[in-house]
Amino acid sequence: MDDPLEPGLYIVATPIGNLSDLSPRAAAVLARADLIAVEDSRVTGKLLNHIGVKRPMTPYHDHNADKVRPGLIARMATGAVALVSDAGTPLISDPGYKLVRDARAAGVTVTTIPGPSAVIAALTLAGLPTDHFAFFGFLPAKGGARASAIAEAAEFRGTLVFYESGPRLGAALAALRDGLGDRDAAVAREITKAFEEAVTGTLAELAARYAVAPPKGEIVIVVGPPGEAPAADADTVDAALADAMTRLSASRAAAEVAQALGLPRRDVYARALDLKEQSQ
Ligand code: SAM
Repeated sequence: MDDPLEPGLYIVATPIGNLSDLSPRAAAVLARADLIAVEDSRVTGKLLNHIGVKRPMTPYHDHNADKVRPGLIARMATGAVALVSDAGTPLISDPGYKLVRDARAAGVTVTTIPGPSAVIAALTLAGLPTDHFAFFGFLPAKGGARASAIAEAAEFRGTLVFYESGPRLGAALAALRDGLGDRDAAVAREITKAFEEAVTGTLAELAARYAVAPPKGEIVIVVGPPGEAPAADADTVDAALADAMTRLSASRAAAEVAQALGLPRRDVYARALDLKEQSQ
């Protein structure tokens, strides 16, 4: 028999489809936890059954979290409480961050047992740049709110990742094409399950493909970075500098304009000094 776990909170990542993806360490923690906080006891029950373990479970989900959190934290003073979600890594588009926040505030030791998460798995399938990426969770369902969220995402110049459901996929891809332009993208579906697939194409191609036939299953959309913007012309740089220098020193104005236009700061600063001299 393994040693009992130290009291505290254990964040345990579970598979996103293929139960064999449960790590040995995750299985060992679940087997020894005094209590497992779960989204759905039927889902976690299947996982525990798969590893031949029976442990007490208690619900922790969006609808009861505020009410049950203090009791769970009190329990962590003397027992090992594991947090799992139905699939993947807790806290990632799933409940948990407030539990971690409040556990820390109460002096509870928090330990993570990392593992699968659909956002990372989708990035490994998409064949798009992974050096800079941002995860935006689920897009809002309603058109106006979705367009605003996409406009916010457009500010980021790396790869974008969204969670989505089958029935909304076509509309989401069309909205992404409208808000971001026709970038390269991938739709990763049913990752680690029997019908896993990653379909790649431009946003326009993917929007057309899924407009008529919404796919079944769980979905991640990955959108590549924007193409290189054409270099700003001299007039644009001068106008931006003239405006910025009404508010800022030449050096600060140059920094602001260089960042906004994606230009080398040293060149923009040299031009700012020229403009300053000409205006004196
Ligand atoms: N915490 C989870 C994680 O770490 O990935 C995500 C939970 S979120 C409520 C569920 C969403 O994750 C699904 O709607 C889907 O967008 C994505 N997802 C989860 N499992 C997936 C899978 N096997 N294939 C594709 N997407 C998946």
